[in-house]
Amino acid sequence: MDKLSRQDFDTYFVPVYKPADFVIDRGAGSRVWDTDGREYVDFTSGIAVSALGHAHPDLLAALNEQAQKIWHVSNVYTTEPALRLAKTLTELSFADKVFFANSGAEANEAALKLARKRGRAQSHQKTEIVSFRQSFHGRTLFTVSVGGQEKYSQDFAPLPPSIVHGAFNDVAGAADLINDNTCAVIVEPIQGEGGVINADADFLQALRDLCNAHQATLIFDEVQTGVGRTGHFFAYMDTPVTPDILTCAKALGGGFPIGAMLTTDAVAKSFSVGDHGTTYGGNPLACAVALALAQRVRDPLLLQGVRDRGAYLADRIEKLNQKHRVFGKVRGKGLLLGAPLCDNHKGKASEIVHACAKEGLLCLVAGPDVLRFAPSLLIEYADIDEGVARLDAALTRFLEV
Ligand SMILES: *Cc1c(COP(=O)(O)O)cnc(C)c1O
Repeated sequence: MDKLSRQDFDTYFVPVYKPADFVIDRGAGSRVWDTDGREYVDFTSGIAVSALGHAHPDLLAALNEQAQKIWHVSNVYTTEPALRLAKTLTELSFADKVFFANSGAEANEAALKLARKRGRAQSHQKTEIVSFRQSFHGRTLFTVSVGGQEKYSQDFAPLPPSIVHGAFNDVAGAADLINDNTCAVIVEPIQGEGGVINADADFLQALRDLCNAHQATLIFDEVQTGVGRTGHFFAYMDTPVTPDILTCAKALGGGFPIGAMLTTDAVAKSFSVGDHGTTYGGNPLACAVALALAQRVRDPLLLQGVRDRGAYLADRIEKLNQKHRVFGKVRGKGLLLGAPLCDNHKGKASEIVHACAKEGLLCLVAGPDVLRFAPSLLIEYADIDEGVARLDAALTRFLEV
């Protein structure tokens, strides 16, 4: 076969992405290699997806075993992996019921449709969805409209109506927005794509109280924060608040596409047979992998390890920054960390990510002004040290130009 290169991407792909200028070939743990054999430390885990690192033996075994049995049956039938995963997720959370989808956007789409139907059953005016600026909920037309970043929705107007946006972490503002016409409030416990911004406990509590007062459905979008990322199985567990619906995806399949909407019996009953669905939802390959992953991530020692590694990485980045003075205070939780660039480096996050790749480190942006780190939940301390050493070299290179 002829060797393909990064240039072929521009030849064959609809131009919505601008991938890095190398082609990734394989990975193991927290290292990946490109097709030229160059090795990288991975602080991205595929945007908070490959939670157990690359090629984890438990996930490989689950995938191989299920691959020998059956790949797909549709929702006309059910399978043991889907049943077991649903049971496990309800045991591990507030939820009584689940709906499986293939991505975060689809999990949110299900959540928003469920909340709309639930609201409309109370009153025909009860359709309004409250969301927050800078939030990110996916790329379907409904979820970009609900998301709080206009750049992702404005070119696709007309957008679905009855969606309003308030300021994140603004308690008084939320009280002004939420009323008896509100069917749902959707919020990320930590805004991920929006810049790694933690929700304040009193803000989340206010949303919970307002939803209770106005019989609105509180949705936590845990697509990025869920399944161990923050050092808790779900991020809500480290807040004073329990949502009515929780969506997760990214880490759920550890690299195999799957999303889920979790909810209570009381909310789930607003849906009946035929109201919603998707061909691949509950696919046995995806569910078998997700089940193996959940069995590892539910381990309190693993979750403690995430908190310890997160604290260690944040500390290493802060120390490095005493030398370079490029960021403000590191924020986030567990192994979802953001380093906001100082005013004199604003807008340069992509440039720094590029410099990092040149030094053999993969990391992410969260908007133009924030560097984001979301390594494997199992990253070795030696890999953290090596990654930070490469970040040091990259920042030196960045500051020279
Ligand atoms: C990534 C993300 C989504 C979208 O998930 P997809 O799988 O890309 O559809 C939704 N919400 C949050 C918080 C995310 O981080």
